[in-house]
Amino acid sequence: MARVSARLSDNAPGDLFVDDACIDCETCRILAPRVFERSDQLGLSVVRNQPASADDALRAKMAIVSCPTSAIGSVSKVDVKDAVLALPDRIAPDVFYCGYASESSFGAASYLVTRGGGNVLVDSPRAARPLMDRIEALGGVGTMFLTHRDDVADHAGYARRFQCERVLHAQDVGPGTRDVERRLEGDEPEPLADDLLAIPVPGHTRGSTALLFRGTFLFTGDHLWGSADGEGLEAGRDVCWYSWAEQTRSMERLLAFDFEWVLPGHGPRFHAPARKMRAEIEKLVARMKR
Ligand code: SF4
Repeated sequence: MARVSARLSDNAPGDLFVDDACIDCETCRILAPRVFERSDQLGLSVVRNQPASADDALRAKMAIVSCPTSAIGSVSKVDVKDAVLALPDRIAPDVFYCGYASESSFGAASYLVTRGGGNVLVDSPRAARPLMDRIEALGGVGTMFLTHRDDVADHAGYARRFQCERVLHAQDVGPGTRDVERRLEGDEPEPLADDLLAIPVPGHTRGSTALLFRGTFLFTGDHLWGSADGEGLEAGRDVCWYSWAEQTRSMERLLAFDFEWVLPGHGPRFHAPARKMRAEIEKLVARMKR
């Protein structure tokens, strides 16, 4: 529970607030961008505007239940039942953002893909029963695709509940993931189904792997994300744990694929026609090579 006594000074006056347990994971800003913003002075999220509409109020409550550190609170009692029912949050037909971020993955985003051949959970949200029940209502999980070693969070809880096959690159398997059911090998793209392609993108970690769904949605883990201005794409040398040169080569190899969405573990999403996406990847590769 967020503590009024620890309320951050930059919050807008009013009922809703963020306290000093915030870890600046962005989850609230993604779910409710009109309500939350990043305070550059504090390096943390704060309430920019108290919710002024029913939609803002709902999305603020979705942030309350999704915050990995319970850093968001309200002075008055809030009923979050409608927020629980609103998650996972639909991004596009058959693609949802799960919310319920886990502190162990630093609040990384996870996604649910609904499809006739079995749903796919991309990276791991918190193993919160209300979310798991909602995922069950959407058809459960056939495959859990783990983009890299950092965002595995509660994967074991999801495997137990849904008896799903977990997929992780062998190079990123560690003590906590040694029992995953399927290990990807090498750096060549590997089809998991007609509409699912695993694309190894070593760099951020040795075993980082993106997942392309229907040639449209690219789940990128921490390899690639949208820029803060919403105009292009970014990757981060300061969060590259394995090899920047390798990550640059992996980025260049993405030019072989068409896609319209970048759905990352951290950072903004990016949606653009395939031609613009390709141009932005080319620009990013050029910047990475400098
Ligand atoms: S979701 Fe919670 S931890 Fe993450 S940025 Fe918002 S307040 Fe901070």
